[in-house]
Amino acid sequence: MIYHAIYSSRMVYPYQQLQKMSDALGEAEQRWQFALEGSGAGVWDWKQDTDHVFYSPQWKATLGFQEHEIGSSFDEWKSRIHPDDMPRTLDDLKQHFEGHSAEYRNEHRMLTRNGEWKWILDQGRVVERAEDGRPLRMIGTHSDIDWIKEQQQRLISSRARLRSIYHSAPVGIIVADRDGTIADANSAMHALLGKSDAELFQQSLWGLFSLDEISRMKRAWGQLQREGGSFQDEYHMQTDTGQMFWAEVTLTPLEGEERTLVLINNIEDRRRAIELLEENATLYQEVFSTGNAIKLLIDPELAEIIDANPVAADFYGYSIGEMCGMPLGRINVLASQSLSKRIRAVVNRTDNHFEASHQLANGELRDVEIFTGPVDLNGRTLLFSIVHDITDRKRAQRDLQAANLKLSRLSESRSQIHHLAECLLTCSQLDEIITQLNVRLPSLFAGCEGNVTLHDPNDINQTMHINWGTPPTDARHLKQTLTVGDGQVGEFVLLIPPEEDSLERLQPLAEDVSHLVMLALADLQLKRGLAHEARKDTLTRLFNRRHLDEVLPQKLAEASIGNPLSLVVLDLDHFKQVNDTYGHEMGDQVLTRLANLIRESLRSSDEACRYGGEEFVILIPGASAAVSRARVEAILEAFHEEVFEHETLGPLTGLSFSAGVANAPHDSQATDALFNMADNALYEAKRAGRKRVLCFNSLPPAADSHARQPAH
Ligand code: GH3
Ligand code: MG
Ligand code: MG
Repeated sequence: MIYHAIYSSRMVYPYQQLQKMSDALGEAEQRWQFALEGSGAGVWDWKQDTDHVFYSPQWKATLGFQEHEIGSSFDEWKSRIHPDDMPRTLDDLKQHFEGHSAEYRNEHRMLTRNGEWKWILDQGRVVERAEDGRPLRMIGTHSDIDWIKEQQQRLISSRARLRSIYHSAPVGIIVADRDGTIADANSAMHALLGKSDAELFQQSLWGLFSLDEISRMKRAWGQLQREGGSFQDEYHMQTDTGQMFWAEVTLTPLEGEERTLVLINNIEDRRRAIELLEENATLYQEVFSTGNAIKLLIDPELAEIIDANPVAADFYGYSIGEMCGMPLGRINVLASQSLSKRIRAVVNRTDNHFEASHQLANGELRDVEIFTGPVDLNGRTLLFSIVHDITDRKRAQRDLQAANLKLSRLSESRSQIHHLAECLLTCSQLDEIITQLNVRLPSLFAGCEGNVTLHDPNDINQTMHINWGTPPTDARHLKQTLTVGDGQVGEFVLLIPPEEDSLERLQPLAEDVSHLVMLALADLQLKRGLAHEARKDTLTRLFNRRHLDEVLPQKLAEASIGNPLSLVVLDLDHFKQVNDTYGHEMGDQVLTRLANLIRESLRSSDEACRYGGEEFVILIPGASAAVSRARVEAILEAFHEEVFEHETLGPLTGLSFSAGVANAPHDSQATDALFNMADNALYEAKRAGRKRVLCFNSLPPAADSHARQPAH
């Protein structure tokens, strides 16, 4: 019993007690672990003696590890600390070990299983020390504070951002207490007032306003404090140096604070700009409304008149009210596309001067000159236009141009007419005249239809025509009759376009041309007459020797066996005696009578000429020498029968001539040779007793050598 009692009291009991205590301790340990882990934190328990560390599952899980993946060494923790955080962490630990801090507390980054860094709040306390103070056991928690760190960072940067906005804002900002005491002011506010932070801090807001504004400001302040909301008005404020300026003041109570945000914006420039604008507006009104020029203000985007001065209203015939808002197209008759193009050119400053046609209220169109340019009014670009009525100037210009045109046309026509005259008067043939007219009339009467008909004055059957142009519509008819002497030689017909001045312009021209043509025809006739006269013998009206010299070579060239040509040379017998006895006048009568006899016996193809004094030549184509001789003998007979009366000496009869005939090509085809042959025959006729006709081809052989020097 004693043993049992002793055993029980000394051994079993204490052991039971110990067991109880041990159980209690285990429970307690578990409890604190649960308690600590229940807060979401991991738990560690470090026994320095053995260097054994207990890491709770939560501790491991915080870093992303499974229970079995982390051992129990101190290094499991230390090796995962961020190198940058390591010195501070170890130092904090050391401080605590050495008893300098009641608790170890450190924030550091640890490497997680997936290689990322995580912020950990590590805190603990030494729970057991050796007698020499050396730590034996330390217990602590390990919490993930990544999100807190993140929030902190965000807060810091947002605060910094707000601060920077606050100080860099271009508007003055004051934070004031309820009673208007300045708690803070930003940089812009300092700059605005020229006061430092210290000068503003704890000062009264009212001191910033001009004296006469303070009560108004206070009233607004009081109302805002009572009723909330926000408030804005313009106040006269003053700087440090007493300089006054206009400010736009905005009061906004700060939510959740007994403070008010005061925004102060210097609007001195704005107010001055407005004043200037008002002044400008007055000036504009004065400039715009006065003066004698037509002035318009135009909205280039809407192509609308937005203002017009009284002179403009008067000119266009509308009231100013009617003109304001009027589309520009109502006065400017340009197509809207061209109008927009012009407006763009003015806005872009590529053009500023135009001429246009403007329509008045009564429909009348006026020529105008416009000087225009863009002006900026209240931030809008408008066009300011000054309009001049240049209708009269334009009309004068047009008249001048028309007169100039008329003059230049006239002078052009004159020079053409002059040229035509020169050309026509050199023409020696009708077809040359026709050619000249054909070349020059179409350009002289361009735009008309023209028609000239000409008859040859010498040969009425020969008619020539010239035509040009096509008939203009509604043409006017102009007709000129062409005459030479008493006879009509042609007609000049013009169909003239119905233009205003065409008849007036073309009629004198047509008359001039008609006169020129008539003159040219008369000239041609005269020339032809003169040429004819030059070939005629004035006494007998037969051709003369010049004519014979011209035609004989041609006629001889045409002669052939089948178409021979006879050349007859004829000389009056003893004519000198006639002259001597009866006088020269009687001699002339004899010559004339013989010429008439020759002419009467001529066929149309024959030609006769007085070759010299009393010597004649007859060309008889198509006749043999014998035939020709017979015809000449017939003339001789008739001549012989002629009786010439003389006043005193009585009648003269029995006159005769001798003649020689040569035939081409039979005798010769050369002019001189043939002539000599005929002459020889004549000589023989004279020698044989005169009053006879001999053919060269029937002369006795010796006779053909009696060539006398021909008379020609
Ligand atoms: P032959 O029979 O030999 O020809 O004698 P001829 O008198 O006729 O010849 P001659 O040559 O000697 O004289 C020609 C005359 O003709 C001389 C001249 O007085 C005359 N005669 C010449 N031309 C004219 C004229 O135009 N009128 C007149 N009346 N006589 C003229
Ligand atoms: Mg003679
Ligand atoms: Mg004679």
